Amino acid sequence: MAALVCVSALVSASGCGSEPADALRGVVLVSVDTLRPDHLGAYGHPRPTSPALDQWASEGTLFEHAMSVSPWTLPAHASLLTGLYPRRHGVLTSRQRLAATTPTLAQRFRSMGFRTAGIVNSVYLGSRFGLGRGFEEFQNLPTPGRAPSQVVASGLAWLRTLPEDGAPFFLFLHLYDVHSDYHSLPEFERAFVGSYLGGVDGSTGQLQEVMRGERQLTPEDRGHLTDLYDAGIRQADAELGRLGEALEARGWLDRTIVAVTSDHGEEFLEHGGVLHARSHYDELLRIPLVLRGPGVPAGVRVERPVSIVDVMPTLLALAGAAPGDVEGLDLSVLWGASADGASLDRDLFAQGDHGGERPDRLRSVRSPRHKLIEDVASGRRELYDLESDPAEAHEISAVEPEVAAELAARLEAFHGGAVPAAADAALPLDPESAEQLRALGYAE
Ligand SMILES: [Zn+2]
Repeated sequence: MAALVCVSALVSASGCGSEPADALRGVVLVSVDTLRPDHLGAYGHPRPTSPALDQWASEGTLFEHAMSVSPWTLPAHASLLTGLYPRRHGVLTSRQRLAATTPTLAQRFRSMGFRTAGIVNSVYLGSRFGLGRGFEEFQNLPTPGRAPSQVVASGLAWLRTLPEDGAPFFLFLHLYDVHSDYHSLPEFERAFVGSYLGGVDGSTGQLQEVMRGERQLTPEDRGHLTDLYDAGIRQADAELGRLGEALEARGWLDRTIVAVTSDHGEEFLEHGGVLHARSHYDELLRIPLVLRGPGVPAGVRVERPVSIVDVMPTLLALAGAAPGDVEGLDLSVLWGASADGASLDRDLFAQGDHGGERPDRLRSVRSPRHKLIEDVASGRRELYDLESDPAEAHEISAVEPEVAAELAARLEAFHGGAVPAAADAALPLDPESAEQLRALGYAE
């Protein structure tokens, strides 16, 4: 594929013709925190929550079954930015920091001569956990209330400092607009929130009451929550639209690889819970993944399950670089010269939760057909047939004990064979960060 070859040549400086239109201008990676794919138009949601992302999906490649490695922010983002599963990068609690020896995606791009910037919106993405490493410009902006975050605005301001042509850039943007509290601007709430006379307001505090069993939700309450959630998605999508327009205005859009994903989804009582971080069902582990730009085919939808750990090696490959020592795989093999999709057949793993007394209580493995979820503390196992029961409504470990045993053995081998977690432990948590985390719904 010519564009891919040219991109490779740009980075290796071995010459690829002189047409600047073919040269990679940059890579933008956007993580929209807490974004469920099934609430996006491109993934079949009937409401117009995501016109900008839908357009990118039609012009690029969409992964139908992209999976996170953890149901909460910190381990999932550490995997997004290192290409490693949590049991390798070792960041499973708010008291662990990425080891200084673990390379990040930003460091890789910087070592390739890219200009790098990260604009984030959560204490978890801050420098204290090591995820800011490799960004020459790094901003952790306040978590937004009702108004859109300033993340995209700040990212665009940084892009304006770059020359028309020059070293390529890597821009990482993390948006918190969709995360609870579910609040957005009146224009978006008017468009998505129907009449409602109940007392649920979409605040994290109320949702925590639900989790503690202190508040019951009616179907009307649930509908109101998803209305508010959809409005927040539309607000975040408007920010993506601004990003696309700005890249287009500079003539950079078609020379820039854009990747949009999330760290986890959100529960709306599918399995009795709300918020996220406390189970391994697909309403939490399934995430969107859309790629667009040089070297990415248009209009392709990939059914094969892929993982958030694949994002780093894929972006590096599209920029012409080797993946390095990562556990994820280069997804561009799906459309490369060899089109070797079979190499992506594998189990996908997830680990961690944020509601119990130990952070690695839950582990799960997903084969092409089944998912096994294991509670390490109690030994309880749940098995689901994702083919016949994608909603994970019918637990079948007693019906298919041999499948459960086989997957349990693979889960054990994955964790038993792991290099011990390499994170710096015992990171002290300052009172301000602890308070921020409590307000966001994370127990400490
Ligand atoms: Zn998150």
